[in-house]
Amino acid sequence: MAGRSKISDQVQEEVRRRASYLCEYCHASERWQYVSFTVDHVKPFSLGGGDGLENLALACFHCNRRKTNRVSVVAIKTGNEIPLFNPRKDDWGEHFVWSANGLSIIGRTLIGRATVEALALNRERVFSIRAADKEIGRHPPLGDPIQSN
Ligand SMILES: [Zn+2]
Repeated sequence: MAGRSKISDQVQEEVRRRASYLCEYCHASERWQYVSFTVDHVKPFSLGGGDGLENLALACFHCNRRKTNRVSVVAIKTGNEIPLFNPRKDDWGEHFVWSANGLSIIGRTLIGRATVEALALNRERVFSIRAADKEIGRHPPLGDPIQSN
């Protein structure tokens, strides 16, 4: 999170490049933003997560703020602990798919669905951004799975 990172510029740039400049959770592209994305500790610093590349992920301000210091959530119905999507361990396309119109992220798995909810990946404001980006052909990101219908 902001303010207390000792991660070098070189490592931060490596994280950005590895992520193809996408938020590794909501797949927003940093290239069209005015504000730089955050280098997120997948396992929070406060829980002993390190500053190495294997524990870092690129996250937009919103996803970073919603994730806070969590690596899992507790399902209300069952009380089971469900891990949040881990960009270093999990494949985005395995856990998420874009709706046919490209505007919503749909969880394909328990992890995917829990993460969509916990990080509010379909928050209100993002729809208009996705729609505008789609109009000019830069959304969804190349290679992302899209529901056939
Ligand atoms: Zn995001």
